[in-house]
Amino acid sequence: MELIFICPARNREFSTSRWWIPHSLTAVSDRKGGKRLQGKVEAFCPYCNVFHEFEPDQIPCPLKSERSTEV
Ligand SMILES: [Zn+2]
Repeated sequence: MELIFICPARNREFSTSRWWIPHSLTAVSDRKGGKRLQGKVEAFCPYCNVFHEFEPDQIPCPLKSERSTEV
């Protein structure tokens, strides 16, 4: 599955299926009673040719109910 990431070095969007979760993600409850994912996702950046580390919150994930604005 391809996901969209934003390169932290160049601040540019890229989509890749070369991403993985080095440690398992855990769903934690926040103070409002909502659930959020906690953990790290690594994705291969075509601009830098390296893997960047992302928080799940930083990824406009199609699995989430709310999507950030399409560019
Ligand atoms: Zn990059």
